[in-house]
Amino acid sequence: MQKNKSLKGRTLYIPQMSYVGARCVAAAFNSLGFDARPSPDSDSRTLELARKYLSGDECLPEAVTLGNFLKVTEMPDYDPDKTAFFMPTSNGPCRFGHYLPLACKVFQQRGEDVLLFSPSSSSGYENIGEEANDLLRTTWRGVLCSDILRKLQLKTRPYEREKGSTDRVFHKSLDRVCEAISIQNVSHKIRLKKILAALMHSRDEFRAVKVDKTRKKLLIGIVGEIYCRLNDFSNDFIINKIEQLGGEVWMSDVSEWVFYTNDEERVRLIRQGKRFSGQMLNCLVRQKILKKDEKALLSLFKDDFIGYEEPHHVLEILDRSQPYLPRDGSHGEMVMSAGKTVWYYEKGASGVIDISPFTCMNGIITEAVYPKLSRELGGFPIRVFYFDGNIADLESDLEIFMELARNFADRNSSLKVSEQELVL
Ligand code: SF4
Repeated sequence: MQKNKSLKGRTLYIPQMSYVGARCVAAAFNSLGFDARPSPDSDSRTLELARKYLSGDECLPEAVTLGNFLKVTEMPDYDPDKTAFFMPTSNGPCRFGHYLPLACKVFQQRGEDVLLFSPSSSSGYENIGEEANDLLRTTWRGVLCSDILRKLQLKTRPYEREKGSTDRVFHKSLDRVCEAISIQNVSHKIRLKKILAALMHSRDEFRAVKVDKTRKKLLIGIVGEIYCRLNDFSNDFIINKIEQLGGEVWMSDVSEWVFYTNDEERVRLIRQGKRFSGQMLNCLVRQKILKKDEKALLSLFKDDFIGYEEPHHVLEILDRSQPYLPRDGSHGEMVMSAGKTVWYYEKGASGVIDISPFTCMNGIITEAVYPKLSRELGGFPIRVFYFDGNIADLESDLEIFMELARNFADRNSSLKVSEQELVL
């Protein structure tokens, strides 16, 4: 279906795992002259459209992704011959590998000749050609920028004096950063300079947001399935609700997952006896480049992220998860969630919420180890919240969780909430 189709002349829709992430990835495609933009926002119509094609086995992120692609077909100017959807894929046991075949089947069934652009397929690379490496590098910088902007937003918004002021700065910053990412015909060096300038400007605007730090906030770590934790619609806007209940959210980054998958490749190569191979060299070089860009962009935020430090290496998270979910016996987000939970505890959080789509194995497995983990961390509140796209009574469960977090904070003097007051 996808053979001989070109991305040129088509609008490429990027799935909105998060809005900020989709904007930054779209900007990376724009830098090569492609017309890319985020797929439409999710709402009840998203699921209504998707459900016509679902068997019931699909996870929520799969349904939301498909539904938003189908929303594009309802746009007045929709033309399948001029439309492409960005749909990465994988071969693992997770249902992520089903997204692409399902989308192909649906559009075939509808008789619409859209392009499903998957970077892991041979046709995908053909579309990008020699510029594939440039795209990967710029996309990575986009991922880092989206993580940074989200962090700034989450650590500022709960304390803002004027409601809405943080989000205003956030959206302006996002436009500015995307403009820098999307500049065409420049070297990586020049692009980095432009991105750094945009980030510095944004950092200063975030710093200028008027805040009241005398109000106590409970720091809540967020782990769990990557799509559901980042996609506000899928998690029923849980971040805003935590903030309304007096919390401040610290969310696991997307870049963390990239570092994990790269390290998994390193370990796999060692297991396969390829410690000294070209593949290992590639893997190590990639790690170096990923780290180099991360260091360059984060260098602007040393003062802003004091107390919100991320591990220097993903092994620091994996070590923490080892007693509960060792990486040799379990894989993927569940390992990262367990390890990051310990990390948040050590950093002074008052509790951790694990966001999971209903029926996803990650949440099911982490839920089994959290009671032990919580006990060993002195009753640290940890709770899995499941989402399936139906409206549930999230508020009352969340209120109970926040009460537990408040009690835990009161019992422990070394928590972040107290640190903030001391700093002030
Ligand atoms: S991790 Fe779970 S929710 Fe996410 S794509 Fe895989 S099966 Fe679906």
